[in-house]
Amino acid sequence: RAKQEGRNTYRLYSTHLDAHEHRWLAMETALRNAIDSNEGLSLHYQPLFSSDSPQQLVSMEALARWQHPDFGQVSPVDFIALAERSGLILSLSKRLMTMVAAQLRHWLDAGLSPVPVAVNLSAQQFWQHDLITQVRALYDTFQLPTGLLSFELTESILLDKQQPAIKVLTALREFGCNIAMDDFGTGYSSLSYLHQLPLTTLKVDRSFIQQLNENAGSEAILAAITGMAKGLKLTVVAEGVETQAQLEALRHYQVDLIQGYLTGRPVSAEEFTALYLSQK
Ligand code: C2E
Ligand code: MG
Ligand code: MG
Ligand code: MG
Repeated sequence: RAKQEGRNTYRLYSTHLDAHEHRWLAMETALRNAIDSNEGLSLHYQPLFSSDSPQQLVSMEALARWQHPDFGQVSPVDFIALAERSGLILSLSKRLMTMVAAQLRHWLDAGLSPVPVAVNLSAQQFWQHDLITQVRALYDTFQLPTGLLSFELTESILLDKQQPAIKVLTALREFGCNIAMDDFGTGYSSLSYLHQLPLTTLKVDRSFIQQLNENAGSEAILAAITGMAKGLKLTVVAEGVETQAQLEALRHYQVDLIQGYLTGRPVSAEEFTALYLSQK
């Protein structure tokens, strides 16, 4: 057949592509199996602390993990992108949100007082038609106090869709949850619409934090972001805080919360339980 011939003609090229495609297909099948069987998928939790008193746990972020026998530990950046491309994202999303809600219930039943957990939403997760219904079902099924399940999204999700986004965000806010703009400063941010969005939090991207003390420009940007956030009554989070010097700079610019390897890496739910116990 013509297609077959075409392939043979460009064999070197297509063999390369095929190997690449083959790997993606194999990964896609593996991810589908992981979602169906619940094997290899888990969540890690990273603490967010007050910058004034870095002992005080304020909230946490849920970060997806996928461990596969052949592919090893796959980065969420890769498997979320794979899930988005292959139509698996909505079932993966349900799986992950249910895991978070079940974990919160588990902590509550253990007599701990869990802080709010932020779940990252990709574009398709955010725009799925029944997101609000799903969130409501999770709050009901797991009997979660309002506000315990919160969300993070990136600027690109809202690009050119501010009006419909306001509706979704407003509905989410009715669960009492925080909503953070993630990786703030790297996207297409149009500052003019920021004040119209019912957000609670800005998470300044790690790239700015890592250049603090090295690059005067990133300090100026940080100062501008915190100044603006104050006016808009938004909480400012610094992500990717790795050094004490960065923490000092962040305090200086009155960043509210810090998240990063300096104060706590993402850890399993079991390890996080120890952190709760130490807070009590
Ligand atoms: P993100 O939401 O911006 O998450 C922060 C990332 O920075 C995490 O990487 C975290 O482990 C890492 N990080 C935290 N502190 C530090 C630090 O001090 N230094 C450095 N170098 N890195 C730090 P991770 O877990 O690999 O996740 C990467 C991205 O994958 C996330 O970026 C998020 O966009 C996406 N992601 C993770 N879990 C989910 C999920 O459940 N759903 C969706 N849609 N996306 C997810
Ligand atoms: Mg995030
Ligand atoms: Mg982030
Ligand atoms: Mg980031």
